[in-house]
Amino acid sequence: MSKIVIITGGSRGIGAATARLAALRGWTVAVNYQRDEHAAEQVAGNIVRAGGRAVTVQGDVSVEADVARLFEDVERRLGNITALVNNAGILERQARVDELDSARLTRVFATNVVGSFLCAREAVRRLSTRYGGAGGAIVNVSSRAAVLGSAGEYVDYAASKGAVDTLTVGLAREVAAEGIRVNGVRPGLIETDIHALGGEPGRVTRLAGSVPMKRGGSPEEVAAAIVWLLSDEASYVTGTFVDVSGGR
Ligand code: NDP
Repeated sequence: MSKIVIITGGSRGIGAATARLAALRGWTVAVNYQRDEHAAEQVAGNIVRAGGRAVTVQGDVSVEADVARLFEDVERRLGNITALVNNAGILERQARVDELDSARLTRVFATNVVGSFLCAREAVRRLSTRYGGAGGAIVNVSSRAAVLGSAGEYVDYAASKGAVDTLTVGLAREVAAEGIRVNGVRPGLIETDIHALGGEPGRVTRLAGSVPMKRGGSPEEVAAAIVWLLSDEASYVTGTFVDVSGGR
């Protein structure tokens, strides 16, 4: 069945790869971005030039008014949405717990946790049969860090992804009878800009040897799991996770 999918943080990395793969399935995609309009326009433009359907939509997922406007904007331009990928996320520079300040904790939890909640809420209000919706699917992008803890590096980030995991399980059960499936993916070490932004370019290459499969993953390998979980092929799958981590 054709879908209309909002992908938060679709301008780069895993989100951009998900937008491309979803479009290849014939789905219409809304590519959300916060700052990088040029990158988002490139992602959507390439999809449209290849015969697909895509629009871009600005919005900071951690800001309630932005999220409301984002969903309204997409629906005005594309019609009723059928799926959401909560992909937008940030990682800050490596630091031990005793070096973390509250401003950083607020930033990390605002985007990774509050952003996921706000977008999930808007999606549920539209998809739930309780509100006259036709059902749909949500995929939350978590991290293997949620399970491993990222000791000495990014415990704040790992804890925020732990919250995303709990949101995934709780929300899945809450809305299962309302036609909405909710699942998560937990990427391992994936080659994207996030590591350079986190202060460590080359991190994936440096740590590749610690991955059982002896390599980092690509955004496309994560996108494949996300698109499958959104698809009707996963029609009896909810409240669970696909780890895309090379066995990490
Ligand atoms: P990138 O840094 O490549 O891309 C992040 C995307 O998120 C960008 O499109 C950025 O948009 C967007 N974004 C950031 N903050 C906000 C915000 N407040 N509102 C809206 N959009 C925002 O990261 P990845 O592709 O690597 O990461 C995608 C997801 O995968 C994240 O949730 C990350 O935590 C998770 N992940 C990644 C792993 C990896 O190894 N790469 C491993 C495990 C999980 P813009 O540039 O316009 O601001």
